[in-house]
Amino acid sequence: MFGFLKGLGVTLSQLPKKKVTLQYPEVKPEWPERFRGVHRFIPELCIVCNQCARICPTDCISLSGTRGDDKKMRIDTYDINFDICILCSLCTDVCPTESVLMSDTFELATYDRDDLYLNMHWLYDNELSYERNHPDRFETKPEPEKAGDA
Ligand code: SF4
Ligand code: SF4
Repeated sequence: MFGFLKGLGVTLSQLPKKKVTLQYPEVKPEWPERFRGVHRFIPELCIVCNQCARICPTDCISLSGTRGDDKKMRIDTYDINFDICILCSLCTDVCPTESVLMSDTFELATYDRDDLYLNMHWLYDNELSYERNHPDRFETKPEPEKAGDA
């Protein structure tokens, strides 16, 4: 009997506390800024240097580009195979222009492995939805005043 009452006491003491579970998938979790989910990609920033593909430990990035009349390289295709990507973020670490970045998208479950090849357009759409969902992360901060400024 004492054990029963003790257990009931523990249960009742938890009732007024804030719930820690979410009604997923109706309610999505809010991931921190450094969460390593599926990539986002900004094509106009990419200089086709190939560093992301070279450092990828699972060889899951394939890309191609062409040189324009202004001699600058432009990306034509950029695909990531999420069947083998381990979300290590090495590709984003080496990218000199921050054209490939991680996002908080994590729902990739599918019945068909072919659906896990995501192309440049999907990755760019993921960038746009990331910007829509996190406007606060794109606010430009005011420059600090230089010493001697009036
Ligand atoms: S996160 Fe890692 S495994 Fe995935 S594409 Fe980038 S470097 Fe490759
Ligand atoms: S995404 Fe970045 S690292 Fe990869 S090719 Fe483009 S500029 Fe280079």
